[in-house]
Amino acid sequence: RAKREGRGNACFFDAEMDKAARMRRQLENDLRQAILRRQLYLDYQPIYDVGSDSVSGYEALLRWRHPDRGVIEPETFIPIAEESGSIAAIGEWVLEQACQEAVRWRQPASVAVNLSPLQFMIPTLYDQIERILRKTGLDPRRLELEITEAALMRERTAVLATLQRLHRLGVRVVMDDFGTGFSSLSNLRAFPFDKIKVDRSFTGALEHDPAARSIVRAIIGLGHSLNMPVVTEGVETELQRRIVIEEGCAQLQGIFFGKPDLGPSQLFADMDRAAG
Ligand code: C2E
Ligand code: MG
Ligand code: MG
Ligand code: MG
Repeated sequence: RAKREGRGNACFFDAEMDKAARMRRQLENDLRQAILRRQLYLDYQPIYDVGSDSVSGYEALLRWRHPDRGVIEPETFIPIAEESGSIAAIGEWVLEQACQEAVRWRQPASVAVNLSPLQFMIPTLYDQIERILRKTGLDPRRLELEITEAALMRERTAVLATLQRLHRLGVRVVMDDFGTGFSSLSNLRAFPFDKIKVDRSFTGALEHDPAARSIVRAIIGLGHSLNMPVVTEGVETELQRRIVIEEGCAQLQGIFFGKPDLGPSQLFADMDRAAG
């Protein structure tokens, strides 16, 4: 009996695996068409600046409006795009779209774009970004590129050269999700980072876990001594806001300040409609 149950489970397991694999292949194919079919769009989340007590920028967060499955999260489809190679085209679309939209905002706020580590395998990445800035007319100093340490694992010399050129152009290079993954401190020294983003897992734990607060304090101290402002992401409550400001955080981001949505583009949509 045990044997039969075992086999039953195995069959069930195989069937589930098969279903998951089919769904993945389907999404992979659908994703190839997503740009042409205009299914991708960007939401913008405000980044609040403590010093000026105002929103100083927005992070562009990619969404995929799938015709049958509704809006799909980046954490679901970015890995698929990375494995199937479509990340190169998607990443370029994101950069161009974000720059294009940002030049239309009424305030010259900064716009932060996330880059996949695989985009650094494109030898012409620098030229691509430079061309997009020229084409859209966005001031390079308004563009922030958010990268995770995974981007610094391979081809370090080439990645360093690309980041240095971008930095010289005036683009700001941001270390995203700091404190998770590899978090090698030497990366902060070896690469031209302008800003550090504390991973939101620490923010979520701040209220009940003193260790999380100690780590956030240490990262902020590190940022200060390296002349890099520190951003806390995932700020959801008033208490979290108070704690990170007390610890000296320069910028804050999270649903407490605003969910990702149309952002400042909304203003223009309204104005365009009003203008007829
Ligand atoms: P990330 O760069 O760390 O972006 C921040 C994530 O935190 C976003 O998730 C945002 O919606 C979420 N978030 C904002 N406020 C809060 C909050 O108060 N609490 C919590 N718990 N979460 C909050 P999202 O939009 O699902 O994006 C997830 C990740 O997908 C991003 O993490 C980024 O790594 C990646 N991603 C997003 N857009 C792009 C893109 O255009 N290209 C690439 N390569 N990756 C992207
Ligand atoms: Mg999400
Ligand atoms: Mg980010
Ligand atoms: Mg992050």
